[in-house]
Amino acid sequence: MAIDRFGRRIHYLRISLTDHCNLRCVYCMPEDQVFRPNADLMQDDEILLLTRLFADLGFDKIRLTGGEPTVRAHIVEIVRGITSTPGIRSLSMTTNGVLLSRLARPLKDAGLQRVNVSIDSLNPDKFKRLTRWGKLEDVWKGILAAEEVGLTPVKLNAVVVKGYNEEDVIDLAALTIDRPWQMRFIEMMPFAGVTDLQTGQLITAANIQEKIEAEFGQLETSHEYDGEARIFRIPGAKGEIGFISSVTVPFCSACTRARLTQDGVLRMCLLREKEIDLLTPLRNGAMLDDLRDMILQGVWEKPWGHGLADGIIPLNRAMNEIGG
Ligand code: SAM
Repeated sequence: MAIDRFGRRIHYLRISLTDHCNLRCVYCMPEDQVFRPNADLMQDDEILLLTRLFADLGFDKIRLTGGEPTVRAHIVEIVRGITSTPGIRSLSMTTNGVLLSRLARPLKDAGLQRVNVSIDSLNPDKFKRLTRWGKLEDVWKGILAAEEVGLTPVKLNAVVVKGYNEEDVIDLAALTIDRPWQMRFIEMMPFAGVTDLQTGQLITAANIQEKIEAEFGQLETSHEYDGEARIFRIPGAKGEIGFISSVTVPFCSACTRARLTQDGVLRMCLLREKEIDLLTPLRNGAMLDDLRDMILQGVWEKPWGHGLADGIIPLNRAMNEIGG
């Protein structure tokens, strides 16, 4: 079992399958972002081998992310390989949804259980401005396809950015009135690449909640968390609203996560620079027991939390190079 020095049992692994993406969201990366060559990414067999090592250590929950996980070649086979790994009981994916209308069925058949789809606005022009290259219609079709094949409950993610979509939170929240979806509003976090925008145009979760309550009245709360999201409901609505306030009200004490970046590096906190390279030793023929020890040591040294309140911003990677 993987336990850190604060007694947290770490059992949730987020695997980034690629840093490549078919969108260029303004809060994630610069438009001219340079991606890693494919040879630097974990190959399919390396992903599955590392998954087995993590599963041996008690990791039972995996989320695939990126970059954009659906642009990864052999994505369906990778999903099948992970779901058939002994010990893995939950596999989900965070995606921009662009390719989901055709991939939802094969991914579901391969064992994927749920998706979180990013959708920052329901206005096609604003959606395009935020994603630079995205067509809202493609994502909407992807969300409906996910629901139809049972990649449920459908969860939607919106990063709220001053000057881009702060007024759109009303339409997004209204989606939950008639649909059993969870609409999650995320505070923008700072990384390399577009740090000025990320720090200068932050809208806090409290501010988003105020806007939503001004429109729909006070939200009902059970004071429950779903992962990192505090969960609320518009009175009488079928779905839920979540707030992920990683910047202003961090949930670090309850964090059970580790991240494996697309280049095979273990990162124990999204917002800390420290990393442990697993892929190079694996390619150099390291014994599996040695790799397990490296993972256990990394887990043990997991930082208590991020340092944003002290002005510490992780600048060694852009968001798409870590995996959200
Ligand atoms: N491409 C996929 C997607 O769009 O969902 C997966 C990768 S993306 C990095 C994962 C999540 O991180 C998305 O919900 C995205 O909106 C969010 N994200 C990206 N940059 C962020 C930032 N600076 N702060 C907070 N969330 C961010």
